[in-house]
Amino acid sequence: MAYDAIIIGAGACGLMCAVQAGFLGKKVIVLEKNDKPGAKILISGGGRCNYTNIGATHEQFISANEHFVKSAFKQWTVEDSINFFETYGIYGAEKTLGQLFPEGKNAKDVVNVFTSLCEEMGQQILCNAEVTSINNNDGEYQVNYRINQKEKTIAAPKLVIATGGLPIPKMGATDFALKFARKHALNIVETAPALVPLTITGKDEDWFAQLSGNSVFCKVSNEEASFEENILFTHWGLSGPAILQISSYWRRGQEINIDLLPNENILQILSTERQHNGRIQLSTLLNRFYTKKFTDALGKFLPLSKTIADLTKAEMEALEQTIHYFKVKPAGDKGYDKAEVMRGGIDTNELSSKTLESKKLIGCYFGGECVDVTGWLGGYNFQWAWASGYVIAQCI
Ligand SMILES: Cc1cc2nc3c(=O)[nH]c(=O)nc-3n(C[C@H](O)[C@H](O)[C@H](O)COP(=O)(O)OP(=O)(O)OC[C@H]3O[C@@H](n4cnc5c(N)ncnc54)[C@H](O)[C@@H]3O)c2cc1C
Repeated sequence: MAYDAIIIGAGACGLMCAVQAGFLGKKVIVLEKNDKPGAKILISGGGRCNYTNIGATHEQFISANEHFVKSAFKQWTVEDSINFFETYGIYGAEKTLGQLFPEGKNAKDVVNVFTSLCEEMGQQILCNAEVTSINNNDGEYQVNYRINQKEKTIAAPKLVIATGGLPIPKMGATDFALKFARKHALNIVETAPALVPLTITGKDEDWFAQLSGNSVFCKVSNEEASFEENILFTHWGLSGPAILQISSYWRRGQEINIDLLPNENILQILSTERQHNGRIQLSTLLNRFYTKKFTDALGKFLPLSKTIADLTKAEMEALEQTIHYFKVKPAGDKGYDKAEVMRGGIDTNELSSKTLESKKLIGCYFGGECVDVTGWLGGYNFQWAWASGYVIAQCI
């Protein structure tokens, strides 16, 4: 069988690429090391798959070149994702902050769209096929893979590397793309877990642990970014959407700031309240905004049993600092086992932004998470995976 291209990885990018290539009458084969395609799609969004975000622009992506995604996003827009899935019976329901989930369906239905289309168009997805090495012979890519303990080779003029990032190794994640890039002297932007919970150790550990299970709406920020969403206390530190978001911008040793009452001014609230009812305790005031458990925990920093009329200037300053400038210095993160994506990857300077073809390896394309393009939480990473898969399909 002659193939126009070999796609490595039947994830979001590889599957979209195979289908779009099929629409153009191109024949591809997808090699996938797992026993089924789309393993990460299946677990995404808690099994419901947040497949795009209606507000996605280049601004929600982290990359050494913040403009790199613009060309791909022009070629394949959020509307295109929505229309594509609607064509195959998946309609989006917005959950929050523009996040689209399949209405009345789930991640399995999303994967089925791709597997059914591949079957209809005769695009082969070969599972349990782990690619081990690649040679380039006279402009042809010879791909060596292992299947049923046998070594096999196939060849095609074009090669698509869509092997994803490092998160969740137990689900098949590999460093294949990074190793391949290193072997061919392609630059790699330093990789790290992203959209990942942060850990707290040392003297503050017990304070956080006692709040395990409590969730608070906050504004979490550092010098680069800020997010208003919930944070979740756990017995080892902090999680929840706002923490996952800031984790992508966080570097070891840095502090993050947590505003525990965003868009309000606790001193103004205090001053108004004092005029009407200065005899209430500080705890009573704080209980309006937080659970009793959380307010009690703030007792470590604040004189909760004092009446608000009796608070000194220093105590009011402490109140402002605690509520609006709660500083946390995470010890680390929960690593690739718990990360949703990988930050960094194949340097975008190595690729054409229009085609995603390698500038050095002609006929070789990189898409999806292995590229130095990392989206925020909320459907952005799939939007990049679909867009990059589409763009590559136009060129192979
Ligand atoms: C728990 C979790 C939840 C998530 N939820 C969401 C969400 O709701 N919305 C969102 O936008 N993003 C979400 N993401 C991120 C999203 O899943 C990824 O960004 C996306 O899957 C990346 O697509 P990809 O095609 O680049 O890689 P992947 O989907 O990871 O696919 C890569 C494929 O390559 C295969 N492979 C690797 N090496 C080889 C090899 N040597 N030979 C053959 N095959 C190989 C892998 O087995 C894998 O199937 C989530 C991630 C996780 C971990």
